[in-house]
Amino acid sequence: MSIYDLTIEELTDYFINNGDKKFYANELFSWIYAKEKRIDSFDKATNLKKETRDKLKENFIISNIEIVTVEKAKDVSKYLFKLNDLEHIEAVLMNHDYGNSLCISSQVGCNMGCKFCESGRRKKVRNLTTGEMVEQILKVESYSNTRISHIVIMGIGEPFDNYDNICKFIKIINHPKGINIGARHITVSTCGIVPKILEFSSFPYQVNLAISLHAPNDNLRKEIMPISKVYPLKDLISAIKIYLEKTNRRVTFEYILLKDVNDSEADARELSCLLKGINAYVNLIPYNETDSLQFRRSNPLTIARFYDILKKNNITVTIRREFGSTISAACGQLRSKKEGI
Ligand code: SAH
Repeated sequence: MSIYDLTIEELTDYFINNGDKKFYANELFSWIYAKEKRIDSFDKATNLKKETRDKLKENFIISNIEIVTVEKAKDVSKYLFKLNDLEHIEAVLMNHDYGNSLCISSQVGCNMGCKFCESGRRKKVRNLTTGEMVEQILKVESYSNTRISHIVIMGIGEPFDNYDNICKFIKIINHPKGINIGARHITVSTCGIVPKILEFSSFPYQVNLAISLHAPNDNLRKEIMPISKVYPLKDLISAIKIYLEKTNRRVTFEYILLKDVNDSEADARELSCLLKGINAYVNLIPYNETDSLQFRRSNPLTIARFYDILKKNNITVTIRREFGSTISAACGQLRSKKEGI
């Protein structure tokens, strides 16, 4: 097991069960996560007893993932990682004026099957462990020598299909003795797994929730996102309303604009109706084209018109700043290239 799999509470239990001092958990958290420390061997945790360190070595490993390649463009770099079982995942680092955000993967492959998404071309192989998600941050910070201030769980995988590990991941990276990333700087993105949205409404951290919507009605959504056959828009929207009421937060709706698929003026009007009165924010995303899929990005004029219609209908809307279309930065593209599929 990786040491990064453990929350501070679990580590405290571990030390208590071993007859060690409880406060060792704080000490060790700081050894593995404090920026100036980040030890790569338990022997370096010099204020822990020798027997304690030996036991840690028997029970845990520190590193589980390794950087294979890094592709860089202006303000964005994409990392390909190899896992212990030789699977590959990706993370994307984006430099904004407000800080650096890292987009991390949550699974190897993905079962959601969204038609426009490269990741879904490969079925889920397994969930990522909590530690493998934590380590994406540590490895990128160390390689790039930057501090990551924001995390978005929008890489390969569906985070709510790996729910328990995601919750543990958030607890660890948010902990002041962990990586200490503010909850409001963490965003979980889901294609709309309704029961988990409801469960997440009781998760006591002020993280952001983003919903990949991509269509204003069920007919179209079913065509491009198979998940909506299981959870139709009516159920999705009512789960989101419950989430909003319970958490008092705002959700983001992501809407990729796909040429001649979901970008008409009628689609924009229907979307405005669907979201009327919901405390939401729509993020229009220019599609990152990928060779293996037939979808194309909407032209700038269409995007502008779509934006205007939402605005006129009093929907809060932005067009996502573009990152990484020159370095295959869309979800799953780098892994596909590496594995040749
Ligand atoms: N499964 C989760 C998180 C991973 S996908 C979800 O569906 O939200 C993260 C976001 O990237 C989703 O909104 C997804 O629809 C979008 N996406 C996938 N492929 C894309 C592409 N080629 N260009 C732009 N956005 C893409």
